[in-house]
Amino acid sequence: MISVNGVVKRYGNKLALDDVSLHVDRGTFVSLIGPNGAGKTTLIRILLTLMKPDKGDVQILGYNPFHNKKVLREVGYVQEIPTYPPFLSGRQILELSAKVKGIDKSEVKRVLEFVEMDSLANFPIIKYSKGLVQRIAIAEALLGNPMVLILDEPNMGIDPIFSLKTREILTKLKRKYNVTILMTSHEMEDVKKLSDTIYMLYKGKVVFKGSVEDMIRKFLGIQ
Ligand code: ATP
Repeated sequence: MISVNGVVKRYGNKLALDDVSLHVDRGTFVSLIGPNGAGKTTLIRILLTLMKPDKGDVQILGYNPFHNKKVLREVGYVQEIPTYPPFLSGRQILELSAKVKGIDKSEVKRVLEFVEMDSLANFPIIKYSKGLVQRIAIAEALLGNPMVLILDEPNMGIDPIFSLKTREILTKLKRKYNVTILMTSHEMEDVKKLSDTIYMLYKGKVVFKGSVEDMIRKFLGIQ
């Protein structure tokens, strides 16, 4: 569903991605981890065609998104810290987004129910906690029922109760709806509970790829 092949990206002299390859199979959950500055956001920005790689290519559903932008309709994206107009309600934001994307308004109700925000959707964003804003962002990404969801640090700075809810929502998406998910995260609890495969980036290079069990074995030295 997602394929990154030998991607290199430089910012001036700074090598942000150094020959990165990564694959996300249909219906699987892949986490991309690594310290600050490892290159995670750069890779996501390339997948979304917000910047071009210097070398290598990316494919989504078998298409190069730079040549076939329509494939991005199948990609829902949740950015790290979503910013919305503070005085609009969650529902209004989703209605606007549906309109811009040419998606039927009935979808708003479906996605709000999915993220369990139906009863809170009429409050203005300014009254929401970070966790609730994040759930609106997930709902927005799910408008139009995309096959692929890309999330950048969905639980960054969110308190544990709300993090748990995000985790539940992502589990439901994967198990019941077979959505293919790529998530960057620093939250190891999320990574452990959700991932089929983990990629670790360090200074722009993939330094580890494997399951949660493989990661624990490698980094704790357990055989
Ligand atoms: P974080 O977890 O902090 O978001 P990250 O793994 O997402 O980090 P990137 O944001 O992709 O890492 O950054 C990779 C490297 O490229 C870092 O060294 C960063 O300083 C550098 N970088 C990122 N964006 C730019 C830019 N616009 N101009 C110059 N250097 C950049």
